[in-house]
Amino acid sequence: MHRFLIEPGLLTGDTARLGSEEAQHALKVLRLKAGSPVQAMDGMGRAWTGTLVEDRDGAGIRLESEIPSNESPVKITLYMGIPKGEKLELIAQKLTELGASRLVPVRMERCVARIPEGEVEKKLSRARRISREAQKQSGRQTEMTIDDPLDFGQMLLSLSRHEAVFLLWENAEGYRLIDARSERENLSDIAFVVGPEGGITNAEAEKLMSAGAAAVTLGARILRAETAAIAGCAAIQTLWGDL
Ligand code: SAH
Repeated sequence: MHRFLIEPGLLTGDTARLGSEEAQHALKVLRLKAGSPVQAMDGMGRAWTGTLVEDRDGAGIRLESEIPSNESPVKITLYMGIPKGEKLELIAQKLTELGASRLVPVRMERCVARIPEGEVEKKLSRARRISREAQKQSGRQTEMTIDDPLDFGQMLLSLSRHEAVFLLWENAEGYRLIDARSERENLSDIAFVVGPEGGITNAEAEKLMSAGAAAVTLGARILRAETAAIAGCAAIQTLWGDL
């Protein structure tokens, strides 16, 4: 069944409005007719079954019954060294499907080439669009936030708000996520940090560990940055969440 994001706050009676892009998609691209069964999502955790309605201002969805939440019990945040090319989009897509809550791009020492500000903006808006598409495709009810990039120091300051922070590090000495799970079974807000293609410098790793991050390994093979991000999220979701 087709899923649409409804406009926040635009509810008349039991009918939610669709923004112009969503309405266009429903009526012009998918050619759905009024009365078609569809699903509505508010992007903030709630979803409904309903039927499409059409009027001269566009389209809406008459909400019928609410669908139970499919959000994971654990909030997962990834602090990601800004990768090159389209990797941020890939990471945004896969983390959205896997149920992460937030993706925070971080400027790290070994980020490849200084990316001009305008490029970062473009990267971010593409990643946000891909994430919204992934959310709809996966029927996920809550959107994954993609923050504006942080400097390394700003990231360090925001780590204390999480219950646990893991640094995924190929030099971590054999300590694995599953070991962390055996020490702390119940966690509801977990952050993890992944370096860019060039990796994390020893100095950065030291700072992260002083700020309370536990260094963990994802095995004895070196993973690409995007593989580490996706595998790390899946592992955390398996150990503390709902995978
Ligand atoms: N520059 C390094 C590898 C960087 S890989 C080298 O070429 O040797 C990019 C990022 O992926 C790393 O910073 C780390 O966060 C993560 N990563 C890759 N392999 C990993 C592993 N086996 N365990 C944990 N993290 C890993």
